[in-house]
Amino acid sequence: MAKVAIIGGGAAGLTASIYASKNHDVTVFEKNKVCGKKITMTGNGRCNYWNADQDLSHYHSSSKKMLDAFLESFNREEVFSFFEEIGLYPEIKNGYYYPYSLQAASVRNVLLEKAKLQNVQFKNECEVLKIEVGADQKFKIYTTEDTYIFDKVILANGSKAGILEEKNSSGYFLASQLGHKIIAVNPSLVQLVGKASFFKDWAGVRALANCTLYIENQKEKESAGEVQFTNYGISGICIFNLSRDVKENLEKEKKVEVHFDFLPFLSSDQKTLEWLEKRAKLLKNFTLETMFENLIPYKLLFVLLKQAHLKKEEYWENLREKEKENLVKTLKDFSLEIVDTKGFLNAQACSGGVCLEEVFLNTMESKIVKNLYIIGELLDVDGDCGGYNLGFAWMSGIKAGKSC
Ligand SMILES: Cc1cc2nc3c(=O)[nH]c(=O)nc-3n(C[C@H](O)[C@H](O)[C@H](O)COP(=O)(O)OP(=O)(O)OC[C@H]3O[C@@H](n4cnc5c(N)ncnc54)[C@H](O)[C@@H]3O)c2cc1C
Repeated sequence: MAKVAIIGGGAAGLTASIYASKNHDVTVFEKNKVCGKKITMTGNGRCNYWNADQDLSHYHSSSKKMLDAFLESFNREEVFSFFEEIGLYPEIKNGYYYPYSLQAASVRNVLLEKAKLQNVQFKNECEVLKIEVGADQKFKIYTTEDTYIFDKVILANGSKAGILEEKNSSGYFLASQLGHKIIAVNPSLVQLVGKASFFKDWAGVRALANCTLYIENQKEKESAGEVQFTNYGISGICIFNLSRDVKENLEKEKKVEVHFDFLPFLSSDQKTLEWLEKRAKLLKNFTLETMFENLIPYKLLFVLLKQAHLKKEEYWENLREKEKENLVKTLKDFSLEIVDTKGFLNAQACSGGVCLEEVFLNTMESKIVKNLYIIGELLDVDGDCGGYNLGFAWMSGIKAGKSC
């Protein structure tokens, strides 16, 4: 029986502890009072822990080929056996998995209960500050409490997402001290800060749109759904899914924009023009304000009309051709310049992390330090909104826990 230390009692660390404790003597070091604090915050308190659509396009890394190979080879049945083993019964909505209780805390609790049943030892409020490998290949772990010796270590410290300030005890710091390369870490799944004078006019509005991210006028990524318009810019799941590369591009001083199509069910400007002509004929004597009733929320519509230099009291049939075309363009391709993200504190995940090239992804063992394993969001892997980040935490945790 080897002595295994797991640094970080989050989704990945707890999963690894459940598997590793079947053969080993396992201790989880957690700097917080209780483990799994982040799990309790997920999915708006409901924890979207998995997604039925496991298409590779939902996962990202700068070592995409390696990540794809990992995901392709991973037997997803293992994840379902794991959920079953810990007693996690799903409520599935459009392929999104939630605990049947719809309570994120219940996911954390079943993980903890299972780990405790398997005699995993917990050292809570115990921050790991430094890890050294001795001449005997054993790990010396320095913590805020004491110093400990272990045969194997699993690094599961998570990322900078949701954290105000990075400390010298972060997983990035510990991994780099052990010789690992860290791919630049940036906030992902985060709100975007725009540059415009009308934010107070649209603040609080939610509307459906097809959104496209442009970098230096080039289409990068599309995402559709409900956008939240705020007093700093834009938020909502479809914006989160566009946010991954924003910070990195802004730092390179590239022009970043999000374009909105507010009438995506109309396939072109021409079709939109024709559709609006027809609608105006049907809704005779409707002002622009009433003509867009139940299509676009008022506050947003007024911003769009202002941008198109039109007044809400005007009538479609009285507009000149150029004005109609201009309004169609505003409705179909409204652009907002992005100048920042809402940062690590507000992000749900991070891009970047420990370089995948330095980890054997069939075991999660480091290629640099024998008996060191690295899992979860600390690695250079991130996913879209929808259960993918926890998905990777479970998958990598199972791999490391089994193989160590
Ligand atoms: C608001 C929010 C909502 C989210 N919603 C979802 C969702 O619905 N679905 C989804 O799939 N993903 C969601 N995520 C992302 C998901 O929570 C993370 O990807 C996942 O929790 C990562 O798991 P992890 O174990 O790698 O890291 P973490 O859960 O961050 O766990 C790492 C643990 O390590 C501890 N630690 C760090 N350093 C040390 C140290 N030196 N010593 C001791 N302990 C240490 C930390 O305190 C932490 O408990 C959300 C994230 C946030 C912030």
